[in-house]
Amino acid sequence: MKEKFDVVIIGGGPGGYVAAIRAAQLKLKVALVEKEHLGGICLNWGCIPTKALLRVSEVLHTCKHAEQFGITVGKVDFDLAKMVKYSRDVADRLAKGVAGLMKKNGVKVFEGYGKIAGKGKVSITISGKDQQIEASNIIIATGARPRELPTIKFDGKMIWNYKQAMTPDKLPKKLLIVGSGAIGVEFASFYNMLGVEVTIMEISKEILSNEDIEVSTLVHKLFEKRGIKILTKTEVVQTNPKGDVVLVKFRDEKGLVHDTEFDRVISAVGVVANTENIGLETTKVKLERGVIKTNEYLETDEPKVFAIGDVASAPWLAHKASHEAIICVEKIAGLKPHAMKRENIPACTYSYPQIASIGLTEAAAKEKYKDIKVGRFPFYANGKAIAMGETDGFVKTIFDPKTGELLGAHLVGAEVTEMIQGFAIAKNMEATEEEIMHTIFPHPTISESMHESVLDAFARVIHL
Ligand SMILES: Cc1cc2nc3c(=O)[nH]c(=O)nc-3n(C[C@H](O)[C@H](O)[C@H](O)COP(=O)(O)OP(=O)(O)OC[C@H]3O[C@@H](n4cnc5c(N)ncnc54)[C@H](O)[C@@H]3O)c2cc1C
Repeated sequence: MKEKFDVVIIGGGPGGYVAAIRAAQLKLKVALVEKEHLGGICLNWGCIPTKALLRVSEVLHTCKHAEQFGITVGKVDFDLAKMVKYSRDVADRLAKGVAGLMKKNGVKVFEGYGKIAGKGKVSITISGKDQQIEASNIIIATGARPRELPTIKFDGKMIWNYKQAMTPDKLPKKLLIVGSGAIGVEFASFYNMLGVEVTIMEISKEILSNEDIEVSTLVHKLFEKRGIKILTKTEVVQTNPKGDVVLVKFRDEKGLVHDTEFDRVISAVGVVANTENIGLETTKVKLERGVIKTNEYLETDEPKVFAIGDVASAPWLAHKASHEAIICVEKIAGLKPHAMKRENIPACTYSYPQIASIGLTEAAAKEKYKDIKVGRFPFYANGKAIAMGETDGFVKTIFDPKTGELLGAHLVGAEVTEMIQGFAIAKNMEATEEEIMHTIFPHPTISESMHESVLDAFARVIHL
């Protein structure tokens, strides 16, 4: 007889493994099918190993600039292989931690390829052998893979996706990064700090095109100051690896085509949802613009089949996947979870400078609400930022003056990826401008800039 579970989850990333833990907490019998690595892209090839690399590059940067703090450091050097090992060790440690969590919570893990095999059935292929299990509910959490453009084919040697980009065996002298979303910008920051000559090519009119334009403009300026070359409104039309270089043909904003050479190319132009070969044809699950269509409780068009994380929709963020996991499992368990609110998902980029945002940009808020109030506070007027030698950055906040609702917050500079959570809590609790103004911020902290930005929106700023 086939083993039967209350919930079977296909995919063990931050969507799938969090769903498994919550389901176990709710006393559901749960199985998790993972074909490659528990922890998914996030722990193995995404969020965590990149943050380890970025941390390493920041330590290097601090050593190189120690003089400004009156500290003399001898010749600063680094060992690339050890840096990469540090990053891989961090990733391995966390992935092992997920295995431990599965055991602790009594989740049955199948190390194999999962596929829906008809109503309430999941087939699992382990080392070429198929077996079937039964599922009262199925959660699809198969994630996404790097998008490959026909003009930039990954070859793993000269043209890298994010996996090769975070495990280089030697540093390129000249590196092209195509795409300037969070992943492209983080790699640009990392390689630039290691002394690589970095060029970013971006088809949009500004880098970080999802961010508020003031944020993108400042990052653009600071990156250029550090020597990163940025070509916007630029399209790569051909990449041709030849010998130890890649010949790149690109069209500039005037439509002129140029030829140039780079040692390596990283293509960071987004991801594609893993929807193929998982048995969707046996269900009524629908796709919408390449991702699985769900409602705000992550239900698909097939009863008892749910989809969460990167396979379900943008933004492609681990915390969005995990939050969807909780909502969907609580729905399965018959609880009354809140609906997923996309406007409350914070987004962070861990480059130097850091970037963090939540809610609407000023342009989007203006379009939706017409009348808005905007406050700004620069880090050069914040005591802690000055003490830290980190005066490049600001906090910008946007409000609906009629209701006092915080519509958006946009931060750039030191520590902002930690600070954004303050605005996430405020937004989730539907705090008004008055409630944020009445909040006491500790001194000296860079977070005081959050307070001052809100005060500025209502013409009450203190330190400007
Ligand atoms: C370089 C990089 C940096 C990133 N940095 C951040 C960051 O700082 N912060 C952030 O929030 N997000 C970041 N992300 C995005 C984040 O990694 C993803 O949003 C997140 O991993 C999505 O989680 P998921 O569970 O939906 O899918 P995934 O993490 O992709 O997990 C899906 C899992 O499903 C498995 N799987 C797929 N198909 C099957 C099948 N048929 N059978 C069994 N198993 C299957 C896969 O092996 C995988 O383990 C980054 C991504 C990249 C690439």
